Amino acid sequence: MGIQNTLQEGFFTTRLEHVLAWGRKYSLWPMPFGTACCAIEFMGVVSSRFDISRFGAELVRFSPRQADLMLVMGTITYKMAPILKRVWDQMCEPKWCIAMGACASSGGFYDNYSTLQGIDEIIPVDVYIPGCPPRPEQIIHALVKLQEKICGTGQSFPVAPPLVAASGVVKKGNAA
Ligand code: SF4
Repeated sequence: MGIQNTLQEGFFTTRLEHVLAWGRKYSLWPMPFGTACCAIEFMGVVSSRFDISRFGAELVRFSPRQADLMLVMGTITYKMAPILKRVWDQMCEPKWCIAMGACASSGGFYDNYSTLQGIDEIIPVDVYIPGCPPRPEQIIHALVKLQEKICGTGQSFPVAPPLVAASGVVKKGNAA
């Protein structure tokens, strides 16, 4: 027994948050934060060959006020990190972040004094994409994983709390 039996055919029931999540899932507004070669690969992803409009994420925005999905693509230096944090803070909730490639996810092979060892040191990351650079199909796969997360049907991904004070970046290791 339930309300479905009472209403019978032609009706279905849902929850408001499920409808909102369904809408958000298919209307992501990506903002590329591209600093290196991964950003070049992203240009291919938004081209007609891969057609991410199939996933409702083709309208790339270059203002954080108009975006709800940040894609960080490339090496982030300690000097650049506060800027990334500020742009992230300017995006309205709800918002999500994808770390594209080894550099954004972990610093990549730039394990040195100047490079942030992963953007999750300063902003929360929803999906990490491995690779140097990742294939376009991996980026599409990350989008699908994010859609599952938005709808609450996918596995939860590790989200690190920001370690940055408003005034600057907390550096780790022997970073100068
Ligand atoms: S992960 Fe590789 S391709 Fe991407 S920005 Fe770093 S060096 Fe370039």
